[in-house]
Amino acid sequence: MFELKFFVSQRHWAAAAATTHTPHAQPGAAGAKEKHEFREPILTVNCYIDYHGLEMSFRATIYTIKGIEMNKLTPQEERVILHKGTEAPFRNEYDEFFADGTFICRRCNAPLFSSESKFNSGCGWPAFDENYPNAVRRETDADGRRTEILCANCGGHLGHVFLGERLTNKNTRHCVNSLSIRFIPEGKEIPPTLHE
Ligand SMILES: [Zn+2]
Repeated sequence: MFELKFFVSQRHWAAAAATTHTPHAQPGAAGAKEKHEFREPILTVNCYIDYHGLEMSFRATIYTIKGIEMNKLTPQEERVILHKGTEAPFRNEYDEFFADGTFICRRCNAPLFSSESKFNSGCGWPAFDENYPNAVRRETDADGRRTEILCANCGGHLGHVFLGERLTNKNTRHCVNSLSIRFIPEGKEIPPTLHE
């Protein structure tokens, strides 16, 4: 005899997390960069075959692959990161802050600047003369004069970059809002970078 059975089941929120680890060359403590994806099952088909007493079964599942959501932001962080606001000078978290470690994007965790590139510019905001390779994107600001800097991974607003001021050998000042970045002390694990 031959018997064929199908069982179809709908699954919701039984998401299995799949992590792909991609080594990513970053100087200093930035280390590896991870990509996290969720596979959310849409449909599972269980198939059972009985052919003259020989039993076979298999299961096939269709998934959608979803990126993990970005970090939740406070209204103040949203104003700066999503709506390109500027926080008050001299009264922000990382202006006069010179510990060793890595500054990551507050929205997506991408490593942006090493503390080695941080210097005291006196301008009232954190200043860096170099970013990690390909971590920061530059665009002409809406004012047509300045150059805006954004997180290359998530597009979050960081601040502006100024060239030719001769403040350091690199002759570059990334003027960054403290609210756009988060400090990870040296030796502490950097959280995985989130992708939309
Ligand atoms: Zn980001």
